[in-house]
Amino acid sequence: MAIWNLGSINADMVYAVPHLPGPGETLAAQELSQFLGGKGANMSVAGARAGSHVHHIGAVGADGHWAVERLTEYGVDTRHIAELSVPTGHAIIAVDAAGENQILLYPGANQAISTDQLGQALSQAETGDILILQNETNCQVEAAKLGRELGLKVCYAAAPFDADAVQSVLPYLDFLIVNEVEATQLEIASGLPAAKLPVAQVIVTLGAEGARFFDTNTDEAQDFPAFQVDAVDTTGAGDTFTGYVLAGMDRGMPMAQAISQAMRAAAIMVTRRGTADVIPDLKDVRETKL
Ligand code: ATP
Repeated sequence: MAIWNLGSINADMVYAVPHLPGPGETLAAQELSQFLGGKGANMSVAGARAGSHVHHIGAVGADGHWAVERLTEYGVDTRHIAELSVPTGHAIIAVDAAGENQILLYPGANQAISTDQLGQALSQAETGDILILQNETNCQVEAAKLGRELGLKVCYAAAPFDADAVQSVLPYLDFLIVNEVEATQLEIASGLPAAKLPVAQVIVTLGAEGARFFDTNTDEAQDFPAFQVDAVDTTGAGDTFTGYVLAGMDRGMPMAQAISQAMRAAAIMVTRRGTADVIPDLKDVRETKL
């Protein structure tokens, strides 16, 4: 089995600056660090590190070879990443000495994926494979519909949250994952609490509190407390959790076991600084004492 991830790929460019720039100001940065980012890329890396075959469906520009190479190094199948004449998606992140930041996000190639590219990739998927989408690319509804038609397990991580985006894919979903804030926003928009959504399986992540799983067919809810760790950077915790849950499902684990393993991975992740580059692998997850 395999995971198919229609997902974003970003260059996160972090500039150390003496202070955040004001309107009209020209400011010299003291340092530049470039990281692989984007929720899609993070989830692909997490799924691959958890032992699944992950096909990333996405796009970069001519400036994005390094990102594709890095995904390949991390074990992601990159054959369905197109190179387009649009710049690679990127975030320009200014960070001042106190750690305060200012972020400029340009979606670039992430929003220029064609339906032909999507169709060609998914024509190679097999019934029962997992399809995951997030809200950082175009073609989400087309992918969800096609995934349903092809008998894939269609999953959606509703971030960055947009009520219209999630509601437009809702009819095609088998699995939804949201954090607590997104669950509340979705309830306000749809009038339905997570347990009553028309989706067979829903996970609401609760940060340091853990996660709650709803099986809406059986009306069962199950709580999973988080592992207690000293968190230093929670960036990417949600994406790591999602990649690991999907990999668990893909590899035939019962949901409770998939969630427990994902929580271990996410707990380790919050003890590390960074995103895709520091997502733990299965060996870390199995051997780290929590
Ligand atoms: P992100 O910060 O990546 O946007 P998110 O809001 O999507 O994350 P969270 O609910 O914050 O998702 O976290 C996802 C999972 O990560 C949680 O269910 C939990 O298992 C784990 N986690 C997050 N924060 C902590 C923490 N401080 N300690 C232990 N585990 C944590």
